[in-house]
Amino acid sequence: MTLGRIHSIESMGLVDGPGIRTVVFLQGCQLRCRYCHNPDTWSLEGVHPQLLSPEELVRRLCRFKPYYGAEGGVTFSGGEPLLQKDFLLEVLPLCREAGIHTCLDTAGCGVGGYEDILRWTDLVLFDVKHEDPESYKSLTGAESTEADRFLAAAQKAGTSLWIRHVVVPGLTDGAEHLEALRRYIQKLDHVQRVELLAYHTLGVPKYHTLGIPYSLEGVAPLDPAALTPWQERFAQDLAGRAKEG
Ligand code: SF4
Repeated sequence: MTLGRIHSIESMGLVDGPGIRTVVFLQGCQLRCRYCHNPDTWSLEGVHPQLLSPEELVRRLCRFKPYYGAEGGVTFSGGEPLLQKDFLLEVLPLCREAGIHTCLDTAGCGVGGYEDILRWTDLVLFDVKHEDPESYKSLTGAESTEADRFLAAAQKAGTSLWIRHVVVPGLTDGAEHLEALRRYIQKLDHVQRVELLAYHTLGVPKYHTLGIPYSLEGVAPLDPAALTPWQERFAQDLAGRAKEG
């Protein structure tokens, strides 16, 4: 039995997947995204992680089940949930057995075992950091190869995807980049939705508390309304593909 190292649990999440969801934030992430608002999840050890067995977590999820309705369920987020591969491989089958819909909110940078993990996953919220490998590296500090590997496994498994992308002023808000992102997404199968997420600064105080330099100091939050035209274009792309069948 593998204990999950859990940063926190949000019982009534409305933005991380369909319906009402319990969002389980797992400790650990190998990336260092410049805009990350959860630097307190980076360490796998964490400061005061909750250590929960797969059985205990599913017992707790079952208490929330009446709120999930037809669409909701559990979302494993982080940090990077794929880093806790062994825990996922135990908890996801238990969720399925309990009739709880499962989402992984991930950037795809785990430690392998993707085929097995995806077998028990109903939906992946895949965070595309950048479609260009060089820009990916300068944004996250890592190569894009691991994310590519995960995405290839998800495509092979036929897993439903919601693509997410954080739009940061001066970094990922350019028309050229967003057009390239459209082309990148057009090549993917099983995409149900694309969500552009506006950069915000809610996590900046955490950097100050943790004594970690914040490289986007002074960059103003992006008004989500500014993304509406792009959001519509991405939605039209998906609608066009659905029509083509
Ligand atoms: S993948 Fe997520 S948790 Fe990890 S550094 Fe990037 S934004 Fe933060």
